[in-house]
Amino acid sequence: MILAAIAAIATMTAVAQPSSPARPRLVVGIVVDQMRWDYLYTYNNIWAADGGFNRLLAGGYSCANTMIDYLPTVTACGHASIYTGTTPAWHGIAGNNFLLDGVNVTSVTDANAHGVGSDTKAGQVSPRNMLATTIGDQIKLATDGKAVVAGVSLKDRAAVLPAGHSADLALWYDNKAKRFITSDYYTDKLPQWVTDFNRDNKAALATNLWDEPQGTTMTTQLAIAALNNLQMGRDDVTDLLAVSYSTTDACAHNHGIRTDSVNAIYRQLDRELATLLDALDSRVGKGNYLLFLTADHGGTYNINTMQERNLPGYRTSTSAIRRRANEALQRKFGIENLIKTNFQYSFYLDNDAIRAADLDRDDVAAEACRALMREPLVQWAVDIENINASYLPAELRERIAKGYARDRSGDIHVILRPLAYTGAPGHPGSAHGTFTQSDSHIPLVFYGWGITAGETTRLTHMTDIAPTVCALLHMQAPNCTIGQPIF
Ligand SMILES: [Zn+2]
Repeated sequence: MILAAIAAIATMTAVAQPSSPARPRLVVGIVVDQMRWDYLYTYNNIWAADGGFNRLLAGGYSCANTMIDYLPTVTACGHASIYTGTTPAWHGIAGNNFLLDGVNVTSVTDANAHGVGSDTKAGQVSPRNMLATTIGDQIKLATDGKAVVAGVSLKDRAAVLPAGHSADLALWYDNKAKRFITSDYYTDKLPQWVTDFNRDNKAALATNLWDEPQGTTMTTQLAIAALNNLQMGRDDVTDLLAVSYSTTDACAHNHGIRTDSVNAIYRQLDRELATLLDALDSRVGKGNYLLFLTADHGGTYNINTMQERNLPGYRTSTSAIRRRANEALQRKFGIENLIKTNFQYSFYLDNDAIRAADLDRDDVAAEACRALMREPLVQWAVDIENINASYLPAELRERIAKGYARDRSGDIHVILRPLAYTGAPGHPGSAHGTFTQSDSHIPLVFYGWGITAGETTRLTHMTDIAPTVCALLHMQAPNCTIGQPIF
């Protein structure tokens, strides 16, 4: 449907102006961290009539049944998958944190990179851990490097992974230095306009941006500053601006879904999106930019809230589960901590200890899975190397396999019983990371250049976003794309 509209426009353009390429001047990707699909509608009461969300919904094309097709449903995997059109098995971003050569790294940790704009550790960041190309990389290739590509967010990973490998600039917020920075992966000197932005907004940047509406405003203002100063969308060479809003995630984690704090964040976001659309309309021109809005993952209600509504809800701790499984493994094999660590539901075996003791790796993994499944709140524990031998439903098997980055992900993936979550007792916040609808059903709205208003409830996936954008641009999709263009 989208592509049919584009074909019509392309034909018209070809007749009128043979030399002009049938491409928008700018692609704008907007990711709202932890925004569930149904928020488009549950927050109807707080969207302003002329706010950003109503404008996008009225004029855009909504893919209302867009699912994340891998596990785990977390920020780094989401941002990488949206822009690469593929999953951790290919792009290698196994989680927000994972083990790389045995070292605990974040998705964007790069010991060889240095901060530009501050000298804290917050600058040791680059996209080098990501193995696949992105929408921005493809735009750069297709335009012989002439396109301008930039990413902006409070979170480093949410700016760096969407911007891609060949980006001109990614900017993120340094929590210690209280300003926006980049790294020498991109440039050796902070652009003057970023220095000016930090100076002009010093007071605002010194406040707690993470779960306050102010963080949403600063992100928008920086995105508009990038648009202006990097001269994006000014000519026929298609540029890419990737913007990610982090406050929505931090605020829900801290306060819980549908709380006054989260409502305030979304009310502000609605206004900020309107401000961003106004800036795009006036500087790039209505109809000259292609925009998409989506999320890196959803989120689930707090267990206390569920219990108050008489829904079953259970709380557990993955480190306690790991400790008890290790005790069972020690009784059987005589070695401590054979599961050496876990990041959320991804459990790592101590393969060095297993080799040193001359144990059979598959025996240890099978015993570990049995021990983990004795936990009342564990539905499945799967040794991923032997996933086809498990009796896991095919849907889950595929999502786990797609989320498994060899040499980076844990050996065993744990799926908790429905409505069981991790988190400290009494903590009011939301959670995510699982396969459930609440965590994996995300909004996806295309808007602007060549897009006809409409909606589909056909099943689409996060990995379809990149190939759809690239098909609209008549460019090659990112190199490891597994999704399909949405018609
Ligand atoms: Zn989160």
